[in-house]
Amino acid sequence: FEDNTPDLLRHLNPQQAQAVECNPKTSALILAGAGSGKTRVLTTRIAWLLQNQHAGVHNIMAVTFTNKAAKEMQTRLSAMLPYNLRAMWLGTFHGICNRFLRLHYRDAGLPQTFQILDSSDQASIIKRLLKQLNIDEKSLAPRTLQGFINAQKEAGLRANVLDAPDPFTQRLIKCYAEYEQLCQREGVVDFAELLLRSYEILNANPALLAHYQSRFTHILVDEFQDTNKLQYAWLKLLADGGAAVFAVGDDDQSIYRFRGANVGNMTQFLRDFQINQPIKLEQNYRSVGNILAAANAVIQNNTDRLGKNLRTDAEAGEKISFFAAYNDIAEADFIVNEIKELKRENWQLNQIALLYRSNAQSRVLEQALFQAAISYKIYGGLRFYERLEVKHALAYLRLAINPNDDNALLRVINFPPRGIGTRSIENIQAAAQQQNSSLWQAAQGMGKKIAPFIELVEQLRGQVGVVSLAELVKSVLDLSGLIKHYQNQKQISEQERVENLEELVNAATGFRVEDVQLDMLPENLADNPALPVIAFLSNAALESGENQAGSGDQAVQLMTVHAAKGLEFDAVFISGMEEGRFPSELSMNEAGGLAEERRLMYVAITRARKRLYISMAQQRMLHGQMQYGVPSRFVDEIPDSLLHHLSPPSKSRNLNDNSHLIFNQTAPAISRTELPREFDGFLIGENVRHEKFGVGVIIDASDKGNGSANLTINFGAQGVKELNTAFAKLTKI
Ligand code: ATP
Ligand code: MG
Repeated sequence: FEDNTPDLLRHLNPQQAQAVECNPKTSALILAGAGSGKTRVLTTRIAWLLQNQHAGVHNIMAVTFTNKAAKEMQTRLSAMLPYNLRAMWLGTFHGICNRFLRLHYRDAGLPQTFQILDSSDQASIIKRLLKQLNIDEKSLAPRTLQGFINAQKEAGLRANVLDAPDPFTQRLIKCYAEYEQLCQREGVVDFAELLLRSYEILNANPALLAHYQSRFTHILVDEFQDTNKLQYAWLKLLADGGAAVFAVGDDDQSIYRFRGANVGNMTQFLRDFQINQPIKLEQNYRSVGNILAAANAVIQNNTDRLGKNLRTDAEAGEKISFFAAYNDIAEADFIVNEIKELKRENWQLNQIALLYRSNAQSRVLEQALFQAAISYKIYGGLRFYERLEVKHALAYLRLAINPNDDNALLRVINFPPRGIGTRSIENIQAAAQQQNSSLWQAAQGMGKKIAPFIELVEQLRGQVGVVSLAELVKSVLDLSGLIKHYQNQKQISEQERVENLEELVNAATGFRVEDVQLDMLPENLADNPALPVIAFLSNAALESGENQAGSGDQAVQLMTVHAAKGLEFDAVFISGMEEGRFPSELSMNEAGGLAEERRLMYVAITRARKRLYISMAQQRMLHGQMQYGVPSRFVDEIPDSLLHHLSPPSKSRNLNDNSHLIFNQTAPAISRTELPREFDGFLIGENVRHEKFGVGVIIDASDKGNGSANLTINFGAQGVKELNTAFAKLTKI
């Protein structure tokens, strides 16, 4: 056969090419810093294995850290190779385990239609459990129990093997055992369970294990530094039949220790797979010189590093801009103004990222972007699929394929309200407990009040596989009365819920089973009439915001630093750089906490290609409290020669900017509406409703002279419109 490798390797430097071409039969670890091409090497390695027939498509499993990364890798591979990649297992650990459990649901003791609990579903199950067990939330916080359960599962430990000397832990263990039973009865699976269950059935079933061990001759893992103990054990088990594991990672980017990630896995891996030397890549292709120098300077303050060098041939580029704002609103204004400037200079909006340490910081930024009519897309935080009304609708869908899903049933049995009182629900729960059945089973024949609900669910069940997914979602919204319920509410917030539900129908309409992440669709589901619904629900639980509805491609990207791992952008803003925020207060009291925060800062800096902004606020409202901040120590760790200190803009440049008050600590809270002038009765900054475009905010206005005014209104997803008050039917809200 013809060796086409030079073509594939053309875009690699000699070190990278060597990594791609290392012995296809043995395992390897690529240990290299940010932006050195690890992910590119991993992707090319897959193509190289296929092209040179070291492996067939079905012999390959590739694990990425996010669904977004999996999708990108799939796109790249498709561009490099003329192969159909469906038989390859490519996805996140969770996605791959989901696929595995759907295939082997019998071995796993699960219904094929099992539901995946996201963390808010899990939290509500845990609350319900504590109530059932008569445990006061004050004596045992649901979050504590949730954290305990997940940590045990991630360590591979079931309740029945745990033991503790102290009564508090004993009680946690008892609750864990009850939780396991509850989930089993309802046929639901949390994130950690996806992995643990997969591991257990492989471990307990030699024939099955042998099958997969011989099938997957090549396992490739990106972001290896963030695998936890259970993931590592699972990989090791699968690879035990002699598979070649190709792992790439960077110890300096290990940022999930709090979730059980273990950098020690890297040295363990070298030992377990008898690898003499990790392969190193030392050239950074992502960032300009100043940005890379800043990243290197910060991470140097950590000890216990595995040791790597990173250099670049790129020019030094601009200095890093640092801005200390008077408060969080002024900081957001600064960022928005810079984004406007970048936009004028023709930078792509989706190549601009706003990073922050915690999700709570996004609100002020979002508001400023919204008012400036800059479209943005927010990752993580409250995902579309986590919004209350969307969860309600999904609960009906879940019941349609599995009425024994107690969590779903409890969520909507009386929502929208249909006169089923707490009393009736408690009766059902008691009956279920007595006969050890699901609530659905217990509710049968429970009387006139419940009957319409049962009929509703039966009606929806009857539609599964008969009507299209979109039709089914529409039925859910109509038959349940959900959409009518929200339509009848007067507040804007409720109107948004109607829009979100409509968006859900859009999502269902645009949903193609073929497009779903390859790892979510095992072949044996193909004949199941519920397939589209299962795939849709799995996608809703596993996607992390990347397919968010209602945001175009040209949008500024907002996310936490954690969520930015592996990604890159032309321009990056790191906001909220205050001591106590980043590094976080909590981390500083923990052994190793500060080093982890510093790695997080290293990740943040190294996301930027060309331009980096760092900003802070001297006052910030968070969780209802005013907090006063000084610049983060990480800013001090960047050599001053690399920083460009921006001075607050003068008053004349921007009327709305109050940062000239920088040292005036007693300044009143800043109001955004500096121009209390009316335009035909409307104010800039006011919310209005338009028949066609929905709810919007007035961002600019001018008088027409005839008493009417021209208003520029931002209608969010509907865009920015200029409307005349004499013609457009606008109502204030
Ligand atoms: P991270 O640690 O952040 O995950 P990484 O090591 O995975 O980074 P990549 O994302 O693979 O790095 O590569 C960083 C950037 O450099 C990408 O835009 C990639 O396309 C580019 N790149 C990698 N290698 C080369 C090369 N040899 N020539 C030109 N560009 C390259
Ligand atoms: Mg990468």
